[in-house]
Amino acid sequence: MKRILQQTPPNGTGCAAIFEMDSKNTTLDSLPVTALKGAGPRMAERLARLGLRTVQDVLFHLPLRYQDRTRVVPIGALRVSDEAVIQGEVQLSEIKLGRRRMLLVRVADGSGGILLRFFHFSAQQQAGLARGVVVRCFGEVRAGPAMLEMVHPEYRVIADAVLDAQGRVGADIAVDECLTPVYPATEGVQQYTLRALSSAALDLAASEPGLQELLPAEILARLKLPPLLDALAYVHRPPPDAPLAMLQEGSHPAQQRLAFEELLAHHLSLRLLRNKMQASRAPQLNAPGRLMRTLLDSLPFALTGAQQRVIGEIVRDLRRTSPMQRLVQGDVGSGKTIVAALAVLHAVEAGFQAAVMAPTELLAEQHLQNFTRWLAPLDLDIAWLSGKQPGKARRTTLERLASGQAAVAVGTHALFQEGVEFASLGLIVVDEQHRFGVHQRLALREKGVQYEHGQGRYPHQLIMTATPIPRTLAMTAYADLDSSIIDELPPGRTPVETVVVPDTRRAEVVERVRGACRTGRQAYWVCTLIEESDVQGRTSVAGGRMPEATETLQCQAAADTAVRLAEALPELRIGLVHGRLKASEKAQVMAAFKAGELDLLVATTVIEVGVDVPNASLMIIENAERLGLAQLHQLRGRVGRGAQKSSCILMYHGPLSRDGRARLAALRETNDGFEIARRDLALRGPGEVLGTRQSGMLQLHIADLVRDQALIPKIEQAAELLLQHYPERVPLLISRWLGEAARYGEV
Ligand code: ADP
Ligand code: MG
Repeated sequence: MKRILQQTPPNGTGCAAIFEMDSKNTTLDSLPVTALKGAGPRMAERLARLGLRTVQDVLFHLPLRYQDRTRVVPIGALRVSDEAVIQGEVQLSEIKLGRRRMLLVRVADGSGGILLRFFHFSAQQQAGLARGVVVRCFGEVRAGPAMLEMVHPEYRVIADAVLDAQGRVGADIAVDECLTPVYPATEGVQQYTLRALSSAALDLAASEPGLQELLPAEILARLKLPPLLDALAYVHRPPPDAPLAMLQEGSHPAQQRLAFEELLAHHLSLRLLRNKMQASRAPQLNAPGRLMRTLLDSLPFALTGAQQRVIGEIVRDLRRTSPMQRLVQGDVGSGKTIVAALAVLHAVEAGFQAAVMAPTELLAEQHLQNFTRWLAPLDLDIAWLSGKQPGKARRTTLERLASGQAAVAVGTHALFQEGVEFASLGLIVVDEQHRFGVHQRLALREKGVQYEHGQGRYPHQLIMTATPIPRTLAMTAYADLDSSIIDELPPGRTPVETVVVPDTRRAEVVERVRGACRTGRQAYWVCTLIEESDVQGRTSVAGGRMPEATETLQCQAAADTAVRLAEALPELRIGLVHGRLKASEKAQVMAAFKAGELDLLVATTVIEVGVDVPNASLMIIENAERLGLAQLHQLRGRVGRGAQKSSCILMYHGPLSRDGRARLAALRETNDGFEIARRDLALRGPGEVLGTRQSGMLQLHIADLVRDQALIPKIEQAAELLLQHYPERVPLLISRWLGEAARYGEV
């Protein structure tokens, strides 16, 4: 079937031409927006700023909200902040002079009166709004000093209106037939343009070949969800009786249908990735476990049941010929490091190298210390690689890795930069993965691949995180991974007692530090400083790197605090650690603190992950209201590691925002990382929690992982059915919703 479409000619003269197009070969996802009436090349450029390039993009560009212009509301029934159509007679029209010249027009309809306020108006407009004229207005209702008002409403004078005895407009002049959508817009793209485009796109979608329905009828029937086209038509043009509140919050079945399809597409892309990994090869790591045994025998503690179970799951994976893709979740302090070390030993004993990557230099150094302490007695060479290493040291390290002399590499992301080569990499451990983001995780997987006789061989991957991932997120963002949970803390830990105090009580807090240190306890004093212009708690929690300037300011704040605390507490031995110190300086301070040569460690949030000093039992966090929940939980996890009772004082600078209050309350109320993650998800939303906003993965257009949680359990089932019975639809679904992003998954 042939259809006539309006298209921009290829010579780009800008004048739209009509020509025939073979619609069989064109689907809406490859049809440019210029195929729609009213969208020329200039408009296409502006639409591209909204991410709208194809007709399909326009169809999935959904309204942010709706206006009800389908009925005229009696003025007497208006409430503040309603958006409504009203209609009435002008009773008074006057120009008020004052600080600002304005036109005030009072309109009444028999049920009540309202004031229209205009700051910009022409003489013609003023004359048009004379007493006795009947107008219809649309606008937002506000509370004015004397009566309800609309500021700059859209309005139309209704000529020849007949009023009845009560002052109501007699003639019933047509109103809109559907709720009016309000779309996300941008400069140069007006709402009426977006409305016209979406109407045209809906028409195209409804005619042959249109927009393909990709969800099988049995799924739609089971979930009671409408077909794709009906859903889109409803969301773009809801009927006058549509449940507006439901639509505004996105819970209408038509919207849920679209969200479901989107979540399903994301889930499927990760499932395919998982299948692909399972079909690929990895070195089979067979080892009797001699090295593991030796390390376990040298430890001053026995593994917890949870640690044993998880290491068992890991070893089972490592013995397979397909690469392990395992996520280990364990709350702060649950003992993930030793589990990683045991996995590393298994790989080494099997004759392969292992790499352990941490998100910060400080944590990587801690790992280096632990691994050296644990593995050096086993006669293993451990290489250290960080970004700040001088050329010569780096060169020798690279040689040891390339020759296979070094069995283990510990470091930051520098481990996987250009020029780093391993003789036989068998295992990659990524610690505190939440700091890296999904995109980096997937990229890393490709970096470790080694080619042998033209065939790719992937190293096994062990991914560890202390940020528990709620199941809802795991289903969509981590569906390519197997998961293990260390759900038990080592014995003898007492929960950290957390108190929240305003910084007006700083002096008392300082006394508390004095008292604690006098009895031989050690304490952390954490300084936070985030640029005022930043959105609260966002900068350092989202997994991105802190901007340079902010880091400098933070270090400065910590240095100042250390000076002031030294004045207030002259009898204490105080150390300072922050991101601007040289690696060796940091290591020196940390070692002194660990050895008990310092009483108080003043620090920036660099100590957030991994720092492990069991004798430290008091932590003060300044400006705690500025940090995110996950970050606060991580920081607090630095105490409560020994047997004695630990405390954490969250000091805030008032007044607290609502979110700030909720975060601090959550911390005071619970020590459970999973509970904290759940609350974090509700407060911040999944983009922030996953740290994916910057990395570009998991960009959801329609679905919302918090709002649409109820859909998630149904997704796995639907995915199963599609993969089994409709595999040809799977790539179509993925490219419809992920487009470019699907590249990361290499599906
Ligand atoms: P995280 O899971 O936060 O990375 P770590 O691996 O740093 O936790 O472990 C925290 C502390 O607990 C370390 O001092 C570690 O040596 C200790 N630890 C680990 N496992 C056990 C255990 N089974 N019994 C006692 N202490 C343990
Ligand atoms: Mg750790």
